[in-house]
Amino acid sequence: MAPPQHDVIVIGAGFAGLRALHTLRSAGRRVAVLEAGDGIGGVWYFNRYPGARCDIESYDYSYSFSSELEQEWRWTQRYATQPEILRYIEHVADRFDLHRDVHLGRRVVRAQWDEAAGLWELTTEGGEHWAAAFVIWAVGNLSTTKQPELPGQADFRGRILHTARWPHADVDVTGLRVGVIGTGSSGMQSIPILAGTAAHLTVFQRTANFSVPAQHRAISGAEDAAVRADYPARRARVLASPSGLGFRPRREATVEVPEAERTAIFEQAWDGAGFGFGLAFRDLLTDQSANDLAAEFIRDKIAQIVTDPTTRELLTPRDHPFGAKRPVVDDGYYATFNRDNVSLIDIRTDPIDRLDASGIVLASGATHALDVLVLATGFDAITGSLLRPDIVGRNGLSLRQKWSAGPITYLGLGTHGFPNMFTIAGPGSPGLLINVLVGIEQHVDWIADLLADMDERGATRVEATEAAERDWGAHLLARTEQTLYPKARSYYMGDEVPGKPRVFMLYTGGLRDYRRILAECVADSYAGFEFDKD
Ligand code: NAP
Repeated sequence: MAPPQHDVIVIGAGFAGLRALHTLRSAGRRVAVLEAGDGIGGVWYFNRYPGARCDIESYDYSYSFSSELEQEWRWTQRYATQPEILRYIEHVADRFDLHRDVHLGRRVVRAQWDEAAGLWELTTEGGEHWAAAFVIWAVGNLSTTKQPELPGQADFRGRILHTARWPHADVDVTGLRVGVIGTGSSGMQSIPILAGTAAHLTVFQRTANFSVPAQHRAISGAEDAAVRADYPARRARVLASPSGLGFRPRREATVEVPEAERTAIFEQAWDGAGFGFGLAFRDLLTDQSANDLAAEFIRDKIAQIVTDPTTRELLTPRDHPFGAKRPVVDDGYYATFNRDNVSLIDIRTDPIDRLDASGIVLASGATHALDVLVLATGFDAITGSLLRPDIVGRNGLSLRQKWSAGPITYLGLGTHGFPNMFTIAGPGSPGLLINVLVGIEQHVDWIADLLADMDERGATRVEATEAAERDWGAHLLARTEQTLYPKARSYYMGDEVPGKPRVFMLYTGGLRDYRRILAECVADSYAGFEFDKD
């Protein structure tokens, strides 16, 4: 085999992969990015469904590594829409000349560590071979879509669309009968928009979900100028916050705050905080009584909004703590069910039996005629895109084998048996429990520093130790047990895919603690990692 042309191969050209390319290339490394899609942007390239937008404020869901970039980009909305985010990503790629090292249409199907050569050898779906000393998986937590196989799907004469594989050309549902399966963020964001033009919209709900209002608004010139003048302080506030959103939860225990004051705090958060509603108090995800109060507040809001009593009850979440399953940030979701052209079907009590030529048939025999069926059914989350390729480490150990009972990592960055391999913002890290942009930048900078340290040591190989990842696994579990997360069936726990191991896959200790732990690891000469030269 010819000597490899690259020091580092990064898989995925979303926010994480592009940041890795820029940072590592700027450090003088030869980097290639392999991207399965036909364009850059990762989830923001694929998730083009109507209403798709971020629920982290635009300024905070942006790169922080370049003050020039911060100053030249103008965000127009408090929560950027998918097209605006994709334009931003394209702008970054042009601005930092990233396209030349991104290779599109390359789905990596196999990665094999060659111990003798000290190289990762990668194979793409098209049969190409790539090699590099280091491999970085920047494949995202929510990128392998879940497409339920409905019996009779081939018979259906209408169109089936998945929110995360939405066509690039406009989909016009004017005058059509539309069905939506799934009421997570993608479903709840698209339902109000689809209802606006469809002749009739039928929502097939399995689990009622908590949602808080996004409170979208345009960003005025004055507000934008104020943010740009204050960017460093804003970034510092984000880094000092537990979730990377810049919010500091109130210190008091929820139940200790007098009722009238507590309600006023919830009202204020409901009216303005968007996703930050969940951070109104510090203990909403650790104390059941506190959580009950927040959940009851939202149930009351639903009761005030939804007029039909049966629909209202169906939309009211009662089977999990608020926030233990990813809550949604919506724009008029509950009110949409007051429209005459919208109906809600409870598929928990009357499940979908099959599709026939004209639409959905329920177990009871009831039929719902449809022209378009939207699958907002989500993803094989967190580990899906890491276990889809065949990743083979030292001594023929496959990642699928190693993670057969759930992901095992050290700090969410490396895993024993897989030298010179890193994951970004994936399992074992805070991942999507925090502002993932912050998590991504933190990981990329940490890896870049580690590679620089290896150069100084004269080391060519790095690998997490078994003991370190065992301790990290125990720490993850201990932190999770302090929370209410295990009380919900969620994709954080692997519940979204039948047969997936049921373990909580992320670090729940928050951004600040995680940053401290990573810094301590560095200060301790990368304790928990082994090098071929110390
Ligand atoms: P999701 O949260 O996993 O929701 C999937 C929905 O489909 C759930 O209601 C689920 O019901 C239902 N479902 C799945 N399989 C089904 C089946 N076989 N039959 C019937 N119903 C089924 O997926 P998502 O809405 O795409 O969102 C995923 C994540 O992406 C979000 O949590 C968020 O982190 C991210 N996201 C963010 C934004 C944003 O930032 N604004 C927007 C969209 C997505 P059950 O609950 O009963 O399983």
